[in-house]
Amino acid sequence: MVQAVVGANWGDEGKGKITDMLAEEADIIVRFQGGANAGHTIVNDYGKFALHTLPSGVFYNHTTSIIGNGVALNIPVLFNEVKSIVDRGVPMPKILVSDRAQMVMSYHILFDQYEEERLGGKSFGSTKSGIAPFYSDKYAKIGFQVSELFDEDLLKEKVVRICEQKNVTLKHLYHKPELKPEDLLEELHNYKKMVEPFVCDTSAYLWNAIKEGKKILLEGQLGSLKDPDHGIYPMVTSSSTLAAYGAIGAGIPPYEIKKIVTVVKAYSSAVGAGAFVSEIFGDEADELRKRGGDGGEFGATTGRPRRMGWFDCVASKYGCRIQGTTDVAFTVLDVLGYLDEIPVCVGYEIDGEVTTDFPTTAKLEKAKPVLKKLPGWKTDIRGIKNYEDLPENCRKYIEFIEEQIGFPITMVSNGPGRHDIIYRNVK
Ligand code: GDP
Repeated sequence: MVQAVVGANWGDEGKGKITDMLAEEADIIVRFQGGANAGHTIVNDYGKFALHTLPSGVFYNHTTSIIGNGVALNIPVLFNEVKSIVDRGVPMPKILVSDRAQMVMSYHILFDQYEEERLGGKSFGSTKSGIAPFYSDKYAKIGFQVSELFDEDLLKEKVVRICEQKNVTLKHLYHKPELKPEDLLEELHNYKKMVEPFVCDTSAYLWNAIKEGKKILLEGQLGSLKDPDHGIYPMVTSSSTLAAYGAIGAGIPPYEIKKIVTVVKAYSSAVGAGAFVSEIFGDEADELRKRGGDGGEFGATTGRPRRMGWFDCVASKYGCRIQGTTDVAFTVLDVLGYLDEIPVCVGYEIDGEVTTDFPTTAKLEKAKPVLKKLPGWKTDIRGIKNYEDLPENCRKYIEFIEEQIGFPITMVSNGPGRHDIIYRNVK
Protein backbone atom coordinates (compact mmCIF):
# COMPACT_ATOMS: atom_id res chain seq x y z
CA MET A 1 0.00 0.00 0.00
CA VAL A 2 1.40 3.37 -0.99
CA GLN A 3 0.46 6.59 0.80
CA ALA A 4 1.68 10.09 0.02
CA VAL A 5 2.18 12.88 2.55
CA VAL A 6 2.13 16.25 0.83
CA GLY A 7 1.45 19.92 1.58
CA ALA A 8 -1.57 22.00 0.51
CA ASN A 9 0.00 25.42 0.78
CA TRP A 10 3.42 27.08 0.63
CA GLY A 11 5.27 24.38 2.58
CA ASP A 12 6.05 24.18 6.31
CA GLU A 13 2.64 22.70 7.02
CA GLY A 14 4.13 20.08 9.34
CA LYS A 15 4.64 17.25 6.82
CA GLY A 16 7.76 16.09 8.68
CA LYS A 17 5.83 15.47 11.86
CA ILE A 18 3.00 13.65 10.05
CA THR A 19 5.46 11.52 8.06
CA ASP A 20 7.47 10.69 11.18
CA MET A 21 4.20 9.69 12.87
CA LEU A 22 2.90 7.58 9.96
CA ALA A 23 6.35 6.02 9.51
CA GLU A 24 5.82 4.08 12.73
CA GLU A 25 3.58 1.77 10.67
CA ALA A 26 5.54 1.98 7.39
CA ASP A 27 8.28 -0.19 5.89
CA ILE A 28 9.72 2.24 3.37
CA ILE A 29 9.78 6.04 3.16
CA VAL A 30 10.63 7.71 -0.14
CA ARG A 31 11.65 11.26 -0.99
CA PHE A 32 10.50 11.82 -4.57
CA GLN A 33 11.27 15.47 -5.43
CA GLY A 34 13.09 18.59 -4.30
CA GLY A 35 16.45 18.88 -2.66
CA ALA A 36 18.16 20.33 0.35
CA ASN A 37 16.43 23.69 -0.15
CA ALA A 38 13.69 23.14 2.41
CA GLY A 39 13.56 21.28 5.66
CA HIS A 40 11.34 19.35 7.98
CA THR A 41 11.48 19.81 11.71
CA ILE A 42 10.91 16.65 13.68
CA VAL A 43 10.59 16.24 17.42
CA ASN A 44 10.89 12.69 18.76
CA ASP A 45 12.47 10.60 21.50
CA TYR A 46 15.98 11.42 20.24
CA GLY A 47 15.43 15.18 20.34
CA LYS A 48 14.64 17.89 17.80
CA PHE A 49 16.02 17.57 14.26
CA ALA A 50 15.94 19.59 11.06
CA LEU A 51 16.14 17.28 8.04
CA HIS A 52 16.71 18.54 4.51
CA THR A 53 17.42 15.52 2.37
CA LEU A 54 16.75 12.41 4.44
CA PRO A 55 13.15 11.19 4.55
CA SER A 56 11.41 11.80 7.88
CA GLY A 57 11.31 8.04 8.58
CA VAL A 58 15.02 7.72 9.37
CA PHE A 59 14.45 7.63 13.11
CA TYR A 60 12.99 4.12 13.14
CA ASN A 61 14.98 0.91 13.04
CA HIS A 62 12.45 -0.94 10.94
CA THR A 63 12.24 1.45 7.98
CA THR A 64 14.19 1.81 4.75
CA SER A 65 14.73 5.37 3.50
CA ILE A 66 14.85 5.92 -0.23
CA ILE A 67 16.17 8.89 -2.16
CA GLY A 68 14.12 8.59 -5.33
CA ASN A 69 15.09 9.48 -8.89
CA GLY A 70 13.10 12.74 -8.75
CA VAL A 71 15.25 14.24 -5.99
CA ALA A 72 18.00 16.82 -6.45
CA LEU A 73 20.65 14.78 -4.68
CA ASN A 74 23.27 16.78 -2.85
CA ILE A 75 25.65 14.02 -1.76
CA PRO A 76 27.74 15.96 0.83
CA VAL A 77 24.57 17.33 2.43
CA LEU A 78 23.04 13.84 2.56
CA PHE A 79 26.07 12.35 4.27
CA ASN A 80 26.51 15.24 6.69
CA GLU A 81 22.91 14.78 7.65
CA VAL A 82 23.36 11.05 8.23
CA LYS A 83 26.42 11.83 10.38
CA SER A 84 24.60 14.50 12.36
CA ILE A 85 21.78 12.17 13.39
CA VAL A 86 24.06 9.18 14.09
CA ASP A 87 26.26 11.45 16.25
CA ARG A 88 23.18 12.19 18.35
CA GLY A 89 22.42 8.54 19.08
CA VAL A 90 20.06 7.62 16.24
CA PRO A 91 20.93 4.14 14.84
CA MET A 92 22.49 4.20 11.34
CA PRO A 93 19.50 4.34 9.00
CA LYS A 94 19.07 1.95 6.08
CA ILE A 95 19.35 4.19 3.01
CA LEU A 96 19.00 3.44 -0.69
CA VAL A 97 19.78 5.96 -3.41
CA SER A 98 18.27 5.68 -6.87
CA ASP A 99 20.77 5.01 -9.65
CA ARG A 100 18.64 7.38 -11.74
CA ALA A 101 18.79 10.30 -9.30
CA GLN A 102 20.80 13.24 -10.54
CA MET A 103 23.37 15.09 -8.45
CA VAL A 104 23.56 18.69 -7.40
CA MET A 105 27.07 19.82 -8.36
CA SER A 106 29.01 22.59 -6.62
CA TYR A 107 28.60 24.77 -9.72
CA HIS A 108 24.80 24.55 -9.44
CA ILE A 109 25.08 26.23 -6.06
CA LEU A 110 27.41 28.89 -7.47
CA PHE A 111 25.10 29.57 -10.42
CA ASP A 112 22.19 29.97 -8.00
CA GLN A 113 24.16 32.57 -6.01
CA TYR A 114 25.41 34.40 -9.10
CA GLU A 115 21.93 34.60 -10.58
CA GLU A 116 20.45 35.99 -7.35
CA GLU A 117 23.25 38.60 -7.28
CA ARG A 118 22.55 39.51 -10.90
CA LEU A 119 18.80 39.84 -10.34
CA GLY A 120 19.29 41.92 -7.20
CA GLY A 121 15.92 43.17 -5.92
CA LYS A 122 14.08 41.23 -8.64
CA SER A 123 15.24 37.85 -7.35
CA PHE A 124 12.91 34.91 -6.71
CA GLY A 125 14.02 34.50 -3.11
CA SER A 126 16.02 31.37 -3.85
CA THR A 127 17.57 29.48 -0.95
CA LYS A 128 20.73 29.29 -3.10
CA SER A 129 21.02 25.51 -2.77
CA GLY A 130 21.42 25.09 -6.51
CA ILE A 131 17.96 23.64 -7.07
CA ALA A 132 16.84 25.76 -10.04
CA PRO A 133 20.15 25.41 -11.95
CA PHE A 134 20.10 21.68 -11.13
CA TYR A 135 16.63 21.04 -12.56
CA SER A 136 17.35 23.33 -15.55
CA ASP A 137 20.37 21.16 -16.39
CA LYS A 138 18.40 17.95 -15.83
CA TYR A 139 15.81 18.97 -18.41
CA ALA A 140 18.45 20.48 -20.72
CA LYS A 141 19.97 16.96 -20.59
CA ILE A 142 23.32 18.08 -19.22
CA GLY A 143 22.90 16.79 -15.67
CA PHE A 144 24.93 14.04 -13.99
CA GLN A 145 22.98 10.90 -13.14
CA VAL A 146 24.25 8.69 -10.29
CA SER A 147 24.58 5.75 -12.71
CA GLU A 148 27.09 7.78 -14.75
CA LEU A 149 29.53 7.82 -11.82
CA PHE A 150 30.32 4.22 -12.75
CA ASP A 151 31.36 5.03 -16.33
CA GLU A 152 34.76 6.71 -16.18
CA ASP A 153 35.07 7.24 -19.95
CA LEU A 154 31.73 8.99 -20.07
CA LEU A 155 32.64 11.22 -17.12
CA LYS A 156 35.99 12.26 -18.65
CA GLU A 157 34.31 13.32 -21.87
CA LYS A 158 31.32 14.94 -20.21
CA VAL A 159 33.20 17.19 -17.77
CA VAL A 160 34.98 18.84 -20.70
CA ARG A 161 31.69 19.43 -22.51
CA ILE A 162 30.01 20.84 -19.40
CA CYS A 163 32.90 23.20 -18.67
CA GLU A 164 32.85 24.57 -22.22
CA GLN A 165 29.20 25.38 -21.90
CA LYS A 166 29.15 26.69 -18.32
CA ASN A 167 32.25 28.80 -18.81
CA VAL A 168 30.60 30.94 -21.46
CA THR A 169 27.99 32.05 -18.94
CA LEU A 170 30.48 32.33 -16.09
CA LYS A 171 32.79 34.52 -18.12
CA HIS A 172 30.39 36.71 -20.07
CA LEU A 173 27.27 36.94 -17.91
CA TYR A 174 28.51 36.65 -14.35
CA HIS A 175 32.20 37.66 -14.74
CA LYS A 176 33.23 34.89 -12.34
CA PRO A 177 36.07 32.30 -12.28
CA GLU A 178 35.72 29.52 -14.85
CA LEU A 179 35.31 25.79 -14.12
CA LYS A 180 38.09 23.27 -14.74
CA PRO A 181 37.32 19.75 -16.04
CA GLU A 182 39.81 18.17 -13.61
CA ASP A 183 38.07 19.78 -10.62
CA LEU A 184 34.69 18.49 -11.74
CA LEU A 185 36.11 15.02 -12.27
CA GLU A 186 37.56 15.02 -8.76
CA GLU A 187 34.22 16.16 -7.33
CA LEU A 188 32.46 13.30 -9.14
CA HIS A 189 35.03 10.77 -7.91
CA ASN A 190 34.42 11.92 -4.34
CA TYR A 191 30.67 11.58 -4.78
CA LYS A 192 31.13 8.08 -6.16
CA LYS A 193 33.13 7.01 -3.11
CA MET A 194 30.47 8.32 -0.76
CA VAL A 195 27.35 7.08 -2.50
CA GLU A 196 28.46 3.74 -3.98
CA PRO A 197 27.36 1.47 -1.10
CA PHE A 198 23.82 2.85 -1.22
CA VAL A 199 23.08 2.91 -4.96
CA CYS A 200 20.50 0.58 -6.47
CA ASP A 201 17.56 0.38 -8.85
CA THR A 202 15.07 1.77 -6.31
CA SER A 203 12.17 1.58 -8.76
CA ALA A 204 12.62 -2.21 -9.06
CA TYR A 205 13.07 -2.43 -5.28
CA LEU A 206 9.77 -0.59 -4.75
CA TRP A 207 7.99 -2.70 -7.37
CA ASN A 208 8.94 -5.84 -5.45
CA ALA A 209 8.03 -4.22 -2.13
CA ILE A 210 4.57 -3.35 -3.46
CA LYS A 211 4.10 -6.94 -4.63
CA GLU A 212 5.08 -8.17 -1.14
CA GLY A 213 2.44 -5.91 0.43
CA LYS A 214 4.92 -3.58 2.12
CA LYS A 215 3.73 -0.22 3.42
CA ILE A 216 5.32 2.66 1.55
CA LEU A 217 5.19 6.37 2.33
CA LEU A 218 6.00 9.04 -0.24
CA GLU A 219 7.15 12.24 1.44
CA GLY A 220 6.63 15.50 -0.42
CA GLN A 221 8.53 18.72 0.09
CA LEU A 222 6.95 22.20 0.08
CA GLY A 223 3.29 22.39 -1.00
CA SER A 224 0.78 22.71 -3.85
CA LEU A 225 1.27 26.45 -4.30
CA LYS A 226 4.99 25.96 -5.00
CA ASP A 227 4.35 23.49 -7.82
CA PRO A 228 5.84 24.75 -11.11
CA ASP A 229 2.62 24.02 -13.06
CA HIS A 230 -0.16 24.53 -10.56
CA GLY A 231 1.45 26.96 -8.11
CA ILE A 232 2.15 30.69 -8.03
CA TYR A 233 4.50 30.69 -11.01
CA PRO A 234 7.24 32.02 -11.17
CA MET A 235 7.52 32.12 -7.36
CA VAL A 236 7.58 28.33 -7.29
CA THR A 237 10.10 25.59 -6.80
CA SER A 238 11.66 23.68 -9.69
CA SER A 239 10.16 20.22 -9.20
CA SER A 240 6.56 19.14 -8.83
CA THR A 241 5.32 19.13 -5.26
CA LEU A 242 2.23 17.08 -6.07
CA ALA A 243 1.39 13.55 -4.98
CA ALA A 244 0.93 12.60 -8.64
CA TYR A 245 4.61 13.29 -9.20
CA GLY A 246 5.34 10.77 -6.45
CA ALA A 247 4.73 8.05 -9.02
CA ILE A 248 7.38 9.52 -11.33
CA GLY A 249 9.88 10.67 -8.72
CA ALA A 250 9.82 7.26 -7.02
CA GLY A 251 9.31 5.17 -10.18
CA ILE A 252 6.10 3.38 -9.17
CA PRO A 253 2.73 2.90 -10.92
CA PRO A 254 0.40 5.89 -10.31
CA TYR A 255 -2.52 3.59 -9.47
CA GLU A 256 -0.64 2.23 -6.46
CA ILE A 257 -0.97 5.53 -4.55
CA LYS A 258 -4.11 4.70 -2.58
CA LYS A 259 -4.09 7.40 0.05
CA ILE A 260 -3.07 11.05 -0.23
CA VAL A 261 -2.66 12.73 3.12
CA THR A 262 -2.56 16.47 2.52
CA VAL A 263 -1.13 18.46 5.40
CA VAL A 264 -2.88 21.76 6.04
CA LYS A 265 -1.75 24.16 8.75
CA ALA A 266 -4.35 25.89 10.99
CA TYR A 267 -2.99 29.29 9.90
CA SER A 268 -0.76 30.36 6.99
CA SER A 269 2.97 30.91 6.66
CA ALA A 270 5.20 31.30 3.64
CA VAL A 271 8.84 31.84 2.83
CA GLY A 272 10.22 33.63 -0.19
CA ALA A 273 8.53 36.10 -2.49
CA GLY A 274 5.10 35.92 -4.10
CA ALA A 275 1.49 36.92 -3.51
CA PHE A 276 0.20 35.90 -0.10
CA VAL A 277 -3.38 37.15 0.14
CA SER A 278 -4.13 36.52 3.83
CA GLU A 279 -0.76 37.87 5.00
CA ILE A 280 -0.61 39.83 8.25
CA PHE A 281 2.03 42.28 9.44
CA GLY A 282 3.34 44.14 12.48
CA ASP A 283 2.62 43.04 16.04
CA GLU A 284 -0.17 40.68 14.97
CA ALA A 285 2.25 38.79 12.73
CA ASP A 286 5.10 38.89 15.26
CA GLU A 287 2.90 37.34 17.94
CA LEU A 288 1.77 34.47 15.68
CA ARG A 289 5.33 33.94 14.38
CA LYS A 290 6.71 33.75 17.91
CA ARG A 291 4.07 31.24 19.05
CA GLY A 292 3.93 29.28 15.76
CA GLY A 293 5.25 25.80 14.98
CA ASP A 294 7.52 24.49 17.68
CA GLY A 295 9.56 27.44 18.90
CA GLY A 296 8.58 29.98 16.27
CA GLU A 297 8.06 30.18 12.52
CA PHE A 298 11.59 30.44 11.14
CA GLY A 299 12.83 28.48 8.12
CA ALA A 300 14.25 25.02 9.02
CA THR A 301 16.99 25.41 6.38
CA THR A 302 17.50 29.14 6.15
CA GLY A 303 16.48 30.46 9.61
CA ARG A 304 14.59 33.18 7.74
CA PRO A 305 11.52 34.54 9.58
CA ARG A 306 8.46 33.18 7.81
CA ARG A 307 5.73 35.45 6.46
CA MET A 308 2.56 34.93 8.48
CA GLY A 309 -1.14 35.02 7.65
CA TRP A 310 -4.58 33.81 8.65
CA PHE A 311 -5.96 30.53 7.35
CA ASP A 312 -6.74 30.81 3.64
CA CYS A 313 -9.74 28.68 2.60
CA VAL A 314 -9.39 29.62 -1.08
CA ALA A 315 -5.75 28.58 -1.34
CA SER A 316 -6.26 25.47 0.81
CA LYS A 317 -9.33 24.25 -1.08
CA TYR A 318 -7.35 24.54 -4.31
CA GLY A 319 -4.20 23.10 -2.74
CA CYS A 320 -6.11 20.03 -1.54
CA ARG A 321 -7.91 19.53 -4.85
CA ILE A 322 -4.76 19.67 -6.94
CA GLN A 323 -3.09 17.10 -4.64
CA GLY A 324 -6.00 14.66 -5.03
CA THR A 325 -6.53 14.61 -1.27
CA THR A 326 -8.15 11.63 0.42
CA ASP A 327 -7.36 12.79 3.98
CA VAL A 328 -6.48 16.14 5.48
CA ALA A 329 -4.09 16.32 8.44
CA PHE A 330 -4.85 19.65 10.12
CA THR A 331 -1.77 20.79 12.04
CA VAL A 332 -0.47 23.28 14.60
CA LEU A 333 -3.97 24.01 15.85
CA ASP A 334 -2.73 24.34 19.45
CA VAL A 335 -0.90 27.55 18.53
CA LEU A 336 -4.16 29.46 17.97
CA GLY A 337 -5.29 29.00 21.60
CA TYR A 338 -4.27 32.57 22.55
CA LEU A 339 -6.69 34.41 20.26
CA ASP A 340 -10.08 35.87 21.28
CA GLU A 341 -11.24 35.81 17.70
CA ILE A 342 -9.62 34.07 14.73
CA PRO A 343 -9.93 35.66 11.29
CA VAL A 344 -10.16 33.24 8.35
CA CYS A 345 -9.88 34.19 4.68
CA VAL A 346 -13.04 32.85 3.00
CA GLY A 347 -12.80 34.56 -0.38
CA TYR A 348 -10.68 36.75 -2.63
CA GLU A 349 -11.91 40.08 -3.91
CA ILE A 350 -10.46 40.67 -7.37
CA ASP A 351 -11.49 43.76 -9.34
CA GLY A 352 -14.60 44.19 -7.18
CA GLU A 353 -15.74 40.58 -7.46
CA VAL A 354 -15.51 37.92 -4.78
CA THR A 355 -14.35 34.45 -5.72
CA THR A 356 -13.48 31.23 -3.89
CA ASP A 357 -11.51 29.88 -6.87
CA PHE A 358 -7.74 30.24 -6.69
CA PRO A 359 -6.62 32.34 -9.67
CA THR A 360 -3.46 32.49 -11.79
CA THR A 361 -0.62 34.71 -10.59
CA ALA A 362 -1.45 38.06 -12.25
CA LYS A 363 -4.95 38.01 -10.76
CA LEU A 364 -3.69 36.70 -7.46
CA GLU A 365 -1.48 39.79 -7.10
CA LYS A 366 -4.64 41.90 -7.13
CA ALA A 367 -6.65 39.78 -4.68
CA LYS A 368 -7.74 41.21 -1.34
CA PRO A 369 -8.80 38.86 1.45
CA VAL A 370 -12.44 38.56 2.50
CA LEU A 371 -12.17 37.75 6.19
CA LYS A 372 -14.62 36.11 8.54
CA LYS A 373 -13.96 36.06 12.28
CA LEU A 374 -14.56 32.89 14.24
CA PRO A 375 -14.61 32.82 18.05
CA GLY A 376 -11.42 31.54 19.73
CA TRP A 377 -11.26 28.89 22.46
CA LYS A 378 -8.69 30.51 24.75
CA THR A 379 -7.28 27.29 26.19
CA ASP A 380 -4.32 25.02 25.69
CA ILE A 381 -5.50 22.00 23.71
CA ARG A 382 -2.19 20.10 23.88
CA GLY A 383 -2.50 16.64 25.38
CA ILE A 384 -6.12 16.13 24.29
CA LYS A 385 -6.57 12.73 22.60
CA ASN A 386 -10.27 12.60 21.69
CA TYR A 387 -12.00 14.89 19.26
CA GLU A 388 -15.02 15.29 21.57
CA ASP A 389 -12.77 16.63 24.33
CA LEU A 390 -11.70 19.64 22.27
CA PRO A 391 -13.41 22.92 23.24
CA GLU A 392 -16.59 23.57 21.29
CA ASN A 393 -15.22 26.65 19.47
CA CYS A 394 -12.15 24.67 18.47
CA ARG A 395 -14.30 21.93 16.93
CA LYS A 396 -16.36 24.62 15.20
CA TYR A 397 -13.16 26.11 13.73
CA ILE A 398 -12.13 22.69 12.36
CA GLU A 399 -15.59 21.92 11.00
CA PHE A 400 -15.95 25.35 9.41
CA ILE A 401 -12.65 24.93 7.58
CA GLU A 402 -13.51 21.37 6.57
CA GLU A 403 -16.71 22.61 4.98
CA GLN A 404 -14.92 25.45 3.19
CA ILE A 405 -12.15 23.31 1.73
CA GLY A 406 -14.40 20.34 0.97
CA PHE A 407 -12.06 17.52 2.05
CA PRO A 408 -12.29 15.42 5.23
CA ILE A 409 -10.05 16.38 8.14
CA THR A 410 -9.26 12.93 9.54
CA MET A 411 -6.30 13.97 11.72
CA VAL A 412 -5.84 16.99 13.96
CA SER A 413 -2.33 17.69 15.24
CA ASN A 414 -2.21 19.49 18.57
CA GLY A 415 1.51 19.52 19.33
CA PRO A 416 4.87 18.89 17.63
CA GLY A 417 5.45 15.41 19.08
CA ARG A 418 4.78 12.04 17.43
CA HIS A 419 1.80 11.25 19.62
CA ASP A 420 0.16 14.69 19.62
CA ILE A 421 -2.59 13.62 17.25
CA ILE A 422 -6.35 13.29 17.32
CA TYR A 423 -7.93 10.90 14.83
CA ARG A 424 -11.37 11.68 13.53
CA ASN A 425 -13.82 9.41 11.76
CA VAL A 426 -15.52 11.45 9.11
CA LYS A 427 -15.98 9.12 6.20
P1 GDP B 1 7.30 20.69 7.00
O1 GDP B 1 8.35 21.22 6.13
O2 GDP B 1 5.96 20.64 6.33
O3 GDP B 1 7.66 19.38 7.63
O4 GDP B 1 7.10 21.72 8.18
P2 GDP B 1 8.19 22.32 9.18
O5 GDP B 1 8.86 21.22 9.88
O6 GDP B 1 9.04 23.31 8.52
O7 GDP B 1 7.25 23.18 10.14
C1 GDP B 1 6.39 22.65 11.01
C2 GDP B 1 6.77 23.11 12.42
O8 GDP B 1 5.67 22.92 13.24
C3 GDP B 1 7.87 22.28 13.05
O9 GDP B 1 8.60 23.11 13.93
C4 GDP B 1 7.12 21.21 13.81
O10 GDP B 1 7.81 20.68 14.92
C5 GDP B 1 5.94 21.97 14.26
N1 GDP B 1 4.69 21.24 14.38
C6 GDP B 1 4.16 20.27 13.57
N2 GDP B 1 2.93 19.94 13.99
C7 GDP B 1 2.67 20.73 15.08
C8 GDP B 1 1.53 20.90 15.93
O11 GDP B 1 0.50 20.28 15.76
N3 GDP B 1 1.65 21.84 16.93
C9 GDP B 1 2.77 22.59 17.11
N4 GDP B 1 2.78 23.48 18.09
N5 GDP B 1 3.84 22.47 16.32
C10 GDP B 1 3.79 21.57 15.31
